[in-house]
Amino acid sequence: MKPVVVFVEHHAGTALRASLECLSAVRSTGRSAVAVVAGPGADQAALTLGRFGAAKVVCLTDAGGWSPDAVARDLARLVGEHGADGFFAAASSTGKDVAPRVAALLDSTLFGDCVQLAAYDASFQVVRPWLAGKALATLRSKAPVFCATTRPNAFPIAETEASAEVVRAAASSDGKAVVVAVEARSGGKLDVKEAPVVVSGGRGLKGPENFHLLEELAVAFGNAATGASRAVVDSGWRPHAEQVGQTGKTVAPQLYVAVGISGAIQHLAGMRTSKVIVAINKDADAPIFKVADYGIVGDALEILPALTRAVKDVKSRK
Ligand SMILES: Cc1cc2nc3c(=O)[nH]c(=O)nc-3n(C[C@H](O)[C@H](O)[C@H](O)COP(=O)(O)OP(=O)(O)OC[C@H]3O[C@@H](n4cnc5c(N)ncnc54)[C@H](O)[C@@H]3O)c2cc1C
Repeated sequence: MKPVVVFVEHHAGTALRASLECLSAVRSTGRSAVAVVAGPGADQAALTLGRFGAAKVVCLTDAGGWSPDAVARDLARLVGEHGADGFFAAASSTGKDVAPRVAALLDSTLFGDCVQLAAYDASFQVVRPWLAGKALATLRSKAPVFCATTRPNAFPIAETEASAEVVRAAASSDGKAVVVAVEARSGGKLDVKEAPVVVSGGRGLKGPENFHLLEELAVAFGNAATGASRAVVDSGWRPHAEQVGQTGKTVAPQLYVAVGISGAIQHLAGMRTSKVIVAINKDADAPIFKVADYGIVGDALEILPALTRAVKDVKSRK
C-alpha cells in the first residue's frame, strides 16, 4: 500500500497535540505515515514522531521565516516524491492555511475538519460535520491523492515504543507570504482548540468583571481553557481568540462547560461535538440544554464558586 504524508505542527520543538491525533488517526487505518515537520525546532519534534505512528519523518530545514505557500509547495512535492496517495493535517489555524494550498497543488479536493477517518477500498473515507454540525456527511474521494484535515480532540492519540527514520530536506525559500514575527497574546494560557477542558462564558455572566469566576474554575481543573460566546466578544468582555462558534473556533474537548450561554445555533456549531457538555443557565428552556449531557438550572454567579470549590475538593483527594 502507498504511504501518506502528514503535516505535523510544533511549538518550539514540541509537536502539537492536534497533529499527534492526526498522525495516530492515519496510523489507525493501517497506512504508513511520512510525517513532515518544518521551522525552528523541527529537529527536536522529529525525534518524537515515531512513537505516534510515523514510519519516516522529513525535517524541512528552516528557510528563514514561516511561509504557508512555500511549505505547501514542499508538502505537495514530498507527496509526489514518496508516491503517497494521501495528505493529512490537523484542522488548526495553520493546517487550515496550508492544507487547502496542498490540495490545490495536487489538483485534489480537501475534506476539512473531519471527525472520523477510516480505510475504504484502497483509499479513505471520512466523516465531517455539515450545516453547522446539524448533519454528518460521509465522504470519499476520486482524486488520486486523498486530502483531509482532522478536527482537534476528535481522535485519540496512540503512543507506542516505535521509532522513525528521520531525514532532512531543504525547505523552499521563495514563499510569497512570509511571517516575520509572531507575538504571543494569550499570556501562556491554553488555547480553546487544544485544551481537553473548555469553560465558556456568555452574556449570562452579566459583565466582564464576573469572568474571574470562570477563570478560577479553569484554574481548578488545571487543564482548562476559557472560551466565550460571540455576544460577549462583540461586547468587548473577552478577546476574539476565545470565541467559540461558527465565526470563532471549533472545539471538541473532553468536557465543555457552557455558562450563561443560550445555545444559539451559531454557538453550537463550534462545540456540539464535545465529548461531554455541561450547561449552566437560569432558564430551564434555554436551547443549550438540548445538547447538554448535564444541566444545572440556576444563577451562574452562585453556581460557579460552588463548582470551583467542588472541583478543587475532588482534585485534592487524588
Ligand atoms: C452570522 C452569525 C455568526 C455568529 N457566530 C457566532 C459564534 O461564532 N459564536 C457564538 O457564540 N455566537 C455567534 N453568533 C451569535 C449567536 O447567534 C448568539 O447571538 C450568541 O451566541 C448569544 O450569546 P450568549 O448565549 O452569550 O447570549 P444570549 O443569547 O443573550 O444568552 C444569555 C444566556 O444567559 C442566560 N442567563 C442570564 N442570566 C443568567 C445567570 N445569572 N445565570 C445563568 N444563566 C443566565 C440566559 O437565560 C441566556 O440563555 C453568530 C450570529 C450570526 C448571525
